[in-house]
Amino acid sequence: MPQSVKRPVHWIVRMNRRNRTMAFVWVLLVLAAHMWGRGYGPVAWVLLGLQFLVYPHVAYLAAVRSRNQMRTEFGNMLLDGLMFGIWMAVLKFPLWISYMLFIGAAINMTVFRGAAGALLAAAVIACGALLGAAVFGLHAEPATAPLTTSLSIATLSLYLLVVAKDAYARSLMLFQTRQQLRAKMEEVLALQQQLQEQSTQDPLTGLFNRRYLVDAMARELARCAHAGLPLSILLVDIDHFKRINDGFGHQAGDAVIVHLAQLLRQQARVGDVVCRYGGEEFLLLCPEMPQAAALERAQQYRASFAAQPLLVGNASIPVTLSAGVATFPEHGDSANALIRSADAALYRAKDLGRNRVELALPAAAG
Ligand code: GH3
Ligand code: MG
Ligand code: MG
Repeated sequence: MPQSVKRPVHWIVRMNRRNRTMAFVWVLLVLAAHMWGRGYGPVAWVLLGLQFLVYPHVAYLAAVRSRNQMRTEFGNMLLDGLMFGIWMAVLKFPLWISYMLFIGAAINMTVFRGAAGALLAAAVIACGALLGAAVFGLHAEPATAPLTTSLSIATLSLYLLVVAKDAYARSLMLFQTRQQLRAKMEEVLALQQQLQEQSTQDPLTGLFNRRYLVDAMARELARCAHAGLPLSILLVDIDHFKRINDGFGHQAGDAVIVHLAQLLRQQARVGDVVCRYGGEEFLLLCPEMPQAAALERAQQYRASFAAQPLLVGNASIPVTLSAGVATFPEHGDSANALIRSADAALYRAKDLGRNRVELALPAAAG
């Protein structure tokens, strides 16, 4: 036997089943109170039972089994309205009962189709009423006994409260879904930002990485060249770093790198770009800075770094750095040329004994 696959029931179909089953019992009581003692025959009573006790379940099953649950459920609502119209005609249009049935159906359809739903409800009820009048004759006995009137008002009020409660539950659900969506959205944005930072940041020091520098340098160089302003770069390398690694361990080496990174960042200006250029090599991009100021800055860094041996555990690690300084336009008019010049100056600083700053040679001579 083929396995039957259980399809999920649309929440509107589920909600309508609950409301229809419940409200139809109340309506049955109202109609029964009205019909009592008015000479309706057994057929009318059986039809009343079928309509208000059995039909809600049949309607539900039809919707559940349908390929398009919502369309069938909408058809059910139209059928509700049509039946209400017929019952109004059968009962000779008692005012309170007609009002209760009309508002009930109209509210139901309005919830799902807006104002057009209310009009549609009016239309199908009118059709039902005409059909009923055509079959059973057109009679008007609008008066109802006080009990029936009270029951009609109570039933309609109760139904309206149920609809309002459902609307509240739905808006609460919507609100919670929106909150969840917003939280997810914030998570995605934070992740996006993290990825962005990771792609431009060095994880050990938090400084910009080389990839970021390439873009920033091209941008700043173009800007300074256009404005006729200088631009300096400082290439900084820790002296005898291998000895630090070998003598104190790789972690101590990392601590020295982080320490220098902090120092470079602390003393940088707002527009400077401080970047970890390689293992223990840093590059500072200083837009609008002439070479004299750049040299002075490099000397400051050199002196500050050498002045504070780094304490790692019980060990005091003596540290120094060497730097090569190059300035646009004197030492090159492209990023590559400037970096080459600064690199050559750095090598010279190393050759001349380290813990020193060297200025690049003029472009023509370098
Ligand atoms: P010099 O004074 O000539 O610069 O000598 P040096 O020993 O510093 O030589 P070099 O600049 O070539 O040394 C770089 C060393 O840095 C080699 C590598 O093992 C180490 N290194 C590179 N990246 C890291 C890092 O992230 N952490 C640590 N602890 N060491 C690193
Ligand atoms: Mg080094
Ligand atoms: Mg190096």
